[in-house]
Amino acid sequence: MNKWQKTELLRISGQRVEFDSPMSRHTTFRVGGNAEALYEAGDSETLCRVMSFLVKEGIPYIVAGRGSNLLVRDGGIGGTVILLSGAFTRISCNKSDVSEISVGAGLPIADLLIRCRAEGITGLEFLAGIPGTVGGAVAMNAGAFGNEIGAKVHKLKLVTQTGGLEERDRSRLRFSYRSLDLEKGVVITQVTFQLDRDTQERVAEKIANYLKRRRETQPLEYPSAGSVFKNPVNDYAGRLIEEAGLKGKTIGGAMISNKHANFIINKGGATATDILALINLAREEVRRRAGVQLELEIRIVGDLV
Ligand SMILES: Cc1cc2nc3c(=O)[nH]c(=O)nc-3n(C[C@H](O)[C@H](O)[C@H](O)COP(=O)(O)OP(=O)(O)OC[C@H]3O[C@@H](n4cnc5c(N)ncnc54)[C@H](O)[C@@H]3O)c2cc1C
Repeated sequence: MNKWQKTELLRISGQRVEFDSPMSRHTTFRVGGNAEALYEAGDSETLCRVMSFLVKEGIPYIVAGRGSNLLVRDGGIGGTVILLSGAFTRISCNKSDVSEISVGAGLPIADLLIRCRAEGITGLEFLAGIPGTVGGAVAMNAGAFGNEIGAKVHKLKLVTQTGGLEERDRSRLRFSYRSLDLEKGVVITQVTFQLDRDTQERVAEKIANYLKRRRETQPLEYPSAGSVFKNPVNDYAGRLIEEAGLKGKTIGGAMISNKHANFIINKGGATATDILALINLAREEVRRRAGVQLELEIRIVGDLV
């Protein structure tokens, strides 16, 4: 980005851009180089203007939620990282249809579940403990315990790459395992869910149960990005990695968790390079021993050093 582009970006965004911002602050792995520019979008109108500018100037961008499924390489991200806050964290309930709830894509899942518990809205409890945003969860079709968020989505509001606002209902959304088919550069800004009513007590109990199951099986005391690989059909990536004898394998500050072999944890001072080396090792060993090609669930972005 040249000096003029930086000045323009600051002006158009209403001074909501930070330059050379460490992505270790914006990812749950707590690793990664700097984002050349980090834009905290607070409303749709400005977001559209900023995206049009970035596209016109040929400046690459990505949108991130909590970075809980992202591995940013140590060389950082050239271009702009867009985060959603302000108006993108609001929740509104449909007055005529109590089962419909619209949520800003930047809202943390934990905050959405607090509201669901308070209002006695059921259907999303399985997401408890997933440290992402609503937009990130929909983009990833996040799931747990046999459920996926995509099944509960009624419609989305989006900003397209050219800076246009669009509403898309579920008949036009293609969800699959840990994925939603979206055109490149599209930003989800709002999600409308179709949910059911239950008592506050039952919603609270379901959330508590899911959190307990998670604590028992996942190394939540360390920074990570959750499951690194997708589960192959009829098998578990964690089981295959464990069978390859890699539990506890350490490179630099990164380790394949002893508690859950599909988690790579940052034991302290890990770099993205350490994590990538463990990813490659796990892939190679599982392919050599079991003949299975593991596919990444986490998304890797950014440049090498
Ligand atoms: C301890 C732990 C446990 C986890 N458990 C689970 C689990 O049980 N199930 C599961 O599915 N995942 C799990 N995850 C992974 C992760 O939390 C989810 O994938 C989450 O939904 C990602 O949300 P995010 O906001 O952090 O997205 P990010 O990681 O920031 O982004 C993920 C992808 O979504 C895109 N994206 C983000 N926001 C938007 C948006 N508004 N519009 C368009 N695209 C967007 C990004 O560009 C990126 O490609 C876990 C992670 C951790 C650390």
